[in-house]
Amino acid sequence: MSTAIINISSLVTNDPSLGEGPLGLIRDAAVVIDGDRIAWIGETSKAPATDNAVDAEGRAGLPGFVDSHSHLVFAGDRTAEFNARMSGRSYSAGGIRTTVAATRAATDEELEANLVRYLREALRQGTTTLETKSGYGLTTHDEARALRIAAAHTDEVTYLGAHIVAPEFADDPEAYVALVTGEMLDACAPHARWVDVFCERGAFDGDQARAVLEAGRKRGLTPRVHANQLGHGPGVQLAVEVGAASADHCTHLTDADVDALASGDTVATLLPGAEFSTRAQWPNARRLLDAGATVALSTDCNPGSSFTSSMPFCIALAVRDMGMTPDEAVLAATAGGAAALRRTDIGRLTPGARADLALLDAPSHVHLAYRPGVPLVSAVWRRGIRAL
Ligand SMILES: [Zn+2]
Repeated sequence: MSTAIINISSLVTNDPSLGEGPLGLIRDAAVVIDGDRIAWIGETSKAPATDNAVDAEGRAGLPGFVDSHSHLVFAGDRTAEFNARMSGRSYSAGGIRTTVAATRAATDEELEANLVRYLREALRQGTTTLETKSGYGLTTHDEARALRIAAAHTDEVTYLGAHIVAPEFADDPEAYVALVTGEMLDACAPHARWVDVFCERGAFDGDQARAVLEAGRKRGLTPRVHANQLGHGPGVQLAVEVGAASADHCTHLTDADVDALASGDTVATLLPGAEFSTRAQWPNARRLLDAGATVALSTDCNPGSSFTSSMPFCIALAVRDMGMTPDEAVLAATAGGAAALRRTDIGRLTPGARADLALLDAPSHVHLAYRPGVPLVSAVWRRGIRAL
């Protein structure tokens, strides 16, 4: 069963060989979907015959967003903490403990229902691939169940036992690192693709983070790192050294950090929802792009420091406050996210790619930044199936 989506005013393909500019824009475009893949892409006037047709009526189209960084297996609420912070108190990593207590106390069904709710919320905003992590259990049992629940809903699952030192190990962080790299890893590795660590003052130092990433890699997990969010530190350099798929946050970077990201194949993933929600300094996307680094944009959706599931919101922030052009921000939210997940089947619209795309109630993808806060996503296909 083939379906053509026709009369797309401007279509972002992210393949420069298919259209104009780095986004490979096609005007008056059509996309033919066959099964879960894209079978054909080009101008509507040249589209082949199909079983069905959907008229986009001049809407813009683009690949579904690839949100490569979220924390959605959790319970509870941190409204009070946010309210206090917006009333003048600064953010520290310790607030995670509130969510850990609530998550441990929740049933599997509660955690799964919460995850599904936020996945649907993200889908309504055009997200068709979403990575998510453990990190609010911090016991072998609770981390493994978080990953099991996540793996039932996404292929992109990350083991983050090293989110913070579990409260029970506050006096002996090395014993917690031994747990995270030992028994907990054994229980978690079968359910995850990635291993991550929060390398930051107040969480894990460079040596501890390296031990976590190397232990994960020995079990077949690929590293990614929470790096340089709250201050300068070893996280970015470590990420590049261990061949991590991405260094996430990258808010406080030295010239050496920027050079390392520009010369390696570790993606710099920027999470402006966190800076927005903590009133912190913005990451400098312009500096990274000018140096030649690959940049991804993601939501970091979590109940503490960035409770947004909206990729369009992150695009608007990146354009307004981080020095990105609208084209660069859209590329980072689609192909950039795919690169951060080392995927070539998503984040682009080319023959053979997965049929994950969104239509906007707007004539151009630029409206994602031009009309901030407006719900522009009007249709979504995921794996070739109309999902919105
Ligand atoms: Zn995060």
